[in-house]
Amino acid sequence: MSNKEFKAESKRLLELMINSIYTNKEIFLRELISNASDAIDKLHYRSLTDSKLDVSKSDLKIRVDINKDERTITITDNGCGMTEEELDNNLGTIAKSGSLAFKEANEKKDGIDIIGQFGVGFYSAFMVADEVTVESKSIDSDKAYMWKSTGVDGYSIEPCEKSDRGTTITLHIKEDTEDEKYSDFLEENRIQGMIRKYSDYIRYPIQMEMQHLNKKEDSNEYEKVRQIETINSMVPIWKKDKKTITEEEYNSFYTEKYLDYEKPMKVIHTSVEGQCKYDALLYIPSKLPFNYYSEEFERGLQLYSSGVLIMERCEALLPDYFAFVKGLVDSDDLSLNISREMLQQDRQVKIIAKNIENKIRSELENVLNNDREKYEAFFKDFGFQLKFGAYNDYGRNKEKLQDLLLFYSSTEKKMVTLGEYVERMKPEQKAIYYASGDSVDKIDMLPQVDALKEKEYEVLYLTDNIDEFVLQTIMMYKEKTFQNVSAESVDLDTVEEKEALEKLNEEHKDLFTFMKEKISGQVEEVRFTHRLKNHPVCLTSEGNLSVDMAKAINAMPNNQNVQARLVLEINEKHEIANKLKALYNEDKELLEKYTKILYAQAKLIEGMELDNPTEISNLVCELMTK
Ligand code: ADP
Repeated sequence: MSNKEFKAESKRLLELMINSIYTNKEIFLRELISNASDAIDKLHYRSLTDSKLDVSKSDLKIRVDINKDERTITITDNGCGMTEEELDNNLGTIAKSGSLAFKEANEKKDGIDIIGQFGVGFYSAFMVADEVTVESKSIDSDKAYMWKSTGVDGYSIEPCEKSDRGTTITLHIKEDTEDEKYSDFLEENRIQGMIRKYSDYIRYPIQMEMQHLNKKEDSNEYEKVRQIETINSMVPIWKKDKKTITEEEYNSFYTEKYLDYEKPMKVIHTSVEGQCKYDALLYIPSKLPFNYYSEEFERGLQLYSSGVLIMERCEALLPDYFAFVKGLVDSDDLSLNISREMLQQDRQVKIIAKNIENKIRSELENVLNNDREKYEAFFKDFGFQLKFGAYNDYGRNKEKLQDLLLFYSSTEKKMVTLGEYVERMKPEQKAIYYASGDSVDKIDMLPQVDALKEKEYEVLYLTDNIDEFVLQTIMMYKEKTFQNVSAESVDLDTVEEKEALEKLNEEHKDLFTFMKEKISGQVEEVRFTHRLKNHPVCLTSEGNLSVDMAKAINAMPNNQNVQARLVLEINEKHEIANKLKALYNEDKELLEKYTKILYAQAKLIEGMELDNPTEISNLVCELMTK
């Protein structure tokens, strides 16, 4: 016999379980039954490819026994069992999935109250038991072992006698306390109710010996008999009639199975007939999984064939941009015996994937159109993924995703779709205007935005690094192009105004050449502009690469260094314009200083860094004290 310590993390979870003030302690049974069911699944799956395993489907079952005198509940399965090593590894350390979800939930909610709303698994037994014994015989071993623990002090593993393959878990139920009547869990009816409530869909019979009253033959008397009964209906939730399933049932299936403690934003349950028959139960989470952008995130849907799980995660069933969707597909048309790699390429799988993608999209559109608030909350978390989907692969999927995107609108002061923007466009308006920056407030203060405000044009304020790349990838929406308000090509003037400005810029060519030289040619051009209402200067960009895009690209880890082609624009109607004109003739030395300060100001407005902050600071003070 060996005595062992729990791993540190497991110990913490165990402590929480043992001292749990969580009221919903009854979920321990659901957890143990679902482990039992998984173990039978594993056995069944193995038997498909391992002819030495003799498994008759009709024998597969889970059994629950209560012994009031001994204060025990026993859960027995004839699944795959565990070897000595597996007992040690699986029960000495909490399983990866559960532990991560637990940690995350804990950090977020700081709460024991969340325990049990997702799969904390085996250890939940310690919420009701003061001793847990696991006897198991694996399909990979002819020896049986017993794991035993009374809690945080550790556990022991020793050989034991067990004739049949599978696992038997015995819980010794805690003594009653003032707050908690643990003895309730030793009542047949209570346990039966718990099985019906939480484990009804389990595909294997969950059997219990129950007491019945039988009418005696030839008399009116009744006698008590004990009979083995199957408690669960065994119909998986996705095979049930949609009308009979409650929201709570859908939600608890989700939280339990997909380890989320928050209920889903949307449940999609479809049955498709025809060329390819399948049932799908899909969930759109309401929060981004904390590890979504890491390699740990497990994408894909579960794949069942006639109710039997054949693949835990089939990635081919979901496009990357909907990878956050959880759920399962069950199709009778899939071949059980083809390999997993082949399955991903399977024609049927591809057809199903296409349908599912359309379905998810139309359901999201539904939410967008009918429950805006809910969609906005969803978009806050998942918007980046949708935007990335539209941008990625050279925009191959942009048409499918562009109507699901939201951007902040300067006039509506909320998130709007491109469709809504275009509907509101003024008749003479040439393009869909946008401006980008770190925050809505900062963008709203950009001098370049003012001219559009004056014309009462709506401007999309882009605050996500990816936004501008997305719009440039979409390129055209309902025959309208996109235009960055900071682009040199923004054109709001009339023909006459334009001609007048061109003439003026031509007249002061020398002034601009001088100024450009004094800022070491860091801009392509210096010129006067009409686009600034009251503000003196701004920086605009030529070509497709804006200042913000350059910033985003340079922030990426692959060390690129790109520069937007900048133009320093000076408000021709601002007093500073006259000052510059005068200085060019009267005091070139001072003009150089003014130029440097103006350029620095324009950079700061764009949120760019100064190369020479000390020099600028000194220059400003020099002018202040003059
Ligand atoms: P999870 O079920 O989320 O993986 P648990 O803590 O419930 O986490 O279980 C840990 C592991 O122990 C399981 O992944 C499984 O490998 C093993 N296990 C638990 N119960 C059984 C059982 N009845 N038969 C076989 N293996 C089991």
